[in-house]
Amino acid sequence: MDKLSTKISFVDKKKVWQKILEKIKSQITPHNFRGWFSQAELLDITEEQIIISVPSAFFENQLKARYLALIEDSTEKVTGKKLHIEFKIDLSRLKRADFSEEEEFNLIPTPQTPSTLNPKYTLDNFVVGLTNNVAYAAAQAIVQNPGISYNPLFIYGGTGVGKTHLMIGIGNALSTKNPHFKIIYCSSEKFTNDYVEAIQNRRMGDMRKKYRSADLLLVDDIQFFSGREQTQEEFFHTFNELLSASKQVVLTSDRPPHEIARLEARLQSRFQGGLMVDIQSPDLDTRVAILKAKCSERGESLPEDCLNMIAQSTEGNARELEGKLIQILQFLKINPPEGGVTIEVIRQFFGRQTTSKLNLNHKQVLQTVCNYFDIKNNELIGPRRKKELVLPRHLAMYILSDELNLTVEKIGQILGGRDHTTVMHGRDRIKKLINTDREVQKMYIELKQSLLS
Ligand code: ADP
Ligand code: MG
Repeated sequence: MDKLSTKISFVDKKKVWQKILEKIKSQITPHNFRGWFSQAELLDITEEQIIISVPSAFFENQLKARYLALIEDSTEKVTGKKLHIEFKIDLSRLKRADFSEEEEFNLIPTPQTPSTLNPKYTLDNFVVGLTNNVAYAAAQAIVQNPGISYNPLFIYGGTGVGKTHLMIGIGNALSTKNPHFKIIYCSSEKFTNDYVEAIQNRRMGDMRKKYRSADLLLVDDIQFFSGREQTQEEFFHTFNELLSASKQVVLTSDRPPHEIARLEARLQSRFQGGLMVDIQSPDLDTRVAILKAKCSERGESLPEDCLNMIAQSTEGNARELEGKLIQILQFLKINPPEGGVTIEVIRQFFGRQTTSKLNLNHKQVLQTVCNYFDIKNNELIGPRRKKELVLPRHLAMYILSDELNLTVEKIGQILGGRDHTTVMHGRDRIKKLINTDREVQKMYIELKQSLLS
C-alpha cells in the first residue's frame, strides 16, 4: 500500500499515526488515553509493521496487555492492512517524562550487610501503575547502571506513596546483585545528627570517611535539610565527592527541590541536575493492585469485586490503603462470614466503621504508644513534661478521644489524673498537627496501623 511505502515522508507517517491515535482515543477514557498513549511515540511505519517508542518496559507490557488488540484494530481501520505492532524502549525519554513541575531515623551501620536494609521493601513487590511507573523505571535503570544513568535520582511525592519503599528497593536489588556494594541508607535527620555529633566529638574525619565511602547513598526525606546551613554544606561536599567518583545517590523528599524552603541554591541545582521523578497518589487500578499484593503477602485473598470496593472507598495513599486492608482482614477474622467474603460483608464492615471505630481498650492504646516511642507506661502517664514524653502523651490523648470516643475527663483519669482542660489542649494540638506536620501525621498513621495489627 502506497501510504506505507518507505518512500513516504515521516511527516506523512506521523499523520497516519495521528489518525490511528484518534481512533484509539474514541474508544477509551481520556484519563487512560493521556496516561498510556502520551508516552507512545511513532518511530516508523513500514509495509509490515508499526514501530512505537515507549519510555520503559512497563509501558510496553501494559500497552500490550491492555491495548494491543485496539492498536491493531485501529491501525487496520486507518491503513487497510494488518500490521505488526512493535515496541522499542527508549529509556532516555524518562528524563523528559518527568520534569513537570522530625526526628527519628536509622542509619545503617557499616560495614553494610544486606539485612540492614528493610528486606520488606523490594522492587519485586513494588506495585507499578500509572502514578509511579516513571519512578519505578528510573529505579530499575539505576539497578542496571548505578552511578551512570541518573545521578542523583530524586524521588518526590506525598506521604505514604512509596518513596521509601522504592528507594530501599533499589538498595536491596543492588546489594543482591553485588554483596560487596557499600550501601548507606539514612534520613536527612540522621545525617544531621551524625554531623552535629561529629563536630562535638571532633570526629569529622570518621563521619566523612563513612559517608564518602558509599557506593550507594540513600538519603530519605531531605526536606528536613531545610534551614540547616552547616549540614547542607557538609552534605554538598559529600554529594559532590560521591558524584565525581560515579557513586550513585538517591534522594527522596515530600516536594521538589525548588519548593524546599531554605535549601541552598547550589544544592537545589545539584539535585535538579540528575533525574527528578514524582510519585502521585495511586489511581484506582493501582490501588486495587496494591491491595491484591498486600493481601497475598499476608497469605490472604479477597474476591476481585471486594478489592475494587475497598479501593474505591479509600481514596488515599498506599499506606492508608494497607491500614484499611489490615482492618478488614482483622474484621473478617473476628466475624468470619458464613457464605464466604462477599461485597455485602465488606459493605457491612464499612457500615460498622462509621459507628464504632477501633475494637480496642485504652490499655492497648497506651501500650502501643509506649512501644512505638520506646518509653515506659509510668513515664507516659507520669508528671514529667519532657518533650520526648509530651508528644506521645498528646498522641495518646488524641487517639483515646478520636478512636475510643472517651470523654476528656475519662482520658485525664487514664493518663495519671490529668485535668480535662489539659487533655483538650493535647487532643486539639494533635488534631491540628496531623494536618500541618508530616512527621506527626506519619506517627499517627503508623500508630494506628500498629493498633490494628
Ligand atoms: P513514603 O516513603 O512515600 O511515605 P512508603 O514507602 O513508606 O511511603 O510506603 C508506605 C507503605 O505503602 C509501605 O508499607 C509500602 O510498602 C506501601 N507501598 C507504597 N507504594 C507501594 C507500591 N507501589 N507497591 C507496594 N506497596 C507500596
Ligand atoms: Mg518515606
